[in-house]
Amino acid sequence: MREDWKALHAIGVMGGTFDPIHNGHLFAAEAVRQGFGLDVVIFIPAARPPHKNASEVSDPETRYVMVELATADNPYFVVSRIELDRPGPSHTVDTIAALKENTGPDTDIYFITGADAMQDLYKWKDHDTLLLLCKIVAVARPGYSLKVTESLRSHLGDALWARIYPFEVPALAISSSEIRERVRTGKSIKYLVPPTVEHYIRKVGLYVK
Ligand code: ATP
Ligand code: MG
Repeated sequence: MREDWKALHAIGVMGGTFDPIHNGHLFAAEAVRQGFGLDVVIFIPAARPPHKNASEVSDPETRYVMVELATADNPYFVVSRIELDRPGPSHTVDTIAALKENTGPDTDIYFITGADAMQDLYKWKDHDTLLLLCKIVAVARPGYSLKVTESLRSHLGDALWARIYPFEVPALAISSSEIRERVRTGKSIKYLVPPTVEHYIRKVGLYVK
């Protein structure tokens, strides 16, 4: 990943467990990139997601490889090892703060997350600081986004709430859980993940049990 982001105007950050990365993630990132005029979207696989049990998650390097494979054909997508190479739990606020050190004072960072994950934003570590460091794009299927973010307003107050941008993407019900379950039960995952990711899942025998 390039180290110098100083000349860039706006950077998107898509964090996730990516176990595996799927077309829902990729389409949302591409739609937000275009909608917000972002120079790049950085995909950041979480090493140890604070809210998930480590034994239930595929190893970080395996998830990282799938993110590299999935993003290779998009010149605007890059992958960062920042959370993989840092010890301890992966908190978004620490990641964005570290990224900020490599960006210019005028570079805007947009953290992209699903509206589902946003419901718990007020429980995230130092969420107030996070919202000062970056803006958040809450992606959701049409009609769903506003309902979710409105419920956060009372927790955050108007100034911070104004830094959250609801963004509608066409209904994408794809989830990593669904893909793992489909592999386990012998169902097709073609068209839910990029072909390179599907081939890798089959090659290393992920999610079969
Ligand atoms: P799991 O089913 O294991 O929870 P997931 O599909 O939610 O996996 P994550 O890696 O947990 O994938 O998600 C990373 C980010 O992508 C989160 O912000 C999540 O809200 C968002 N996201 C997940 N699925 C979609 C989708 N289909 N469309 C848009 N955003 C999504
Ligand atoms: Mg999830």
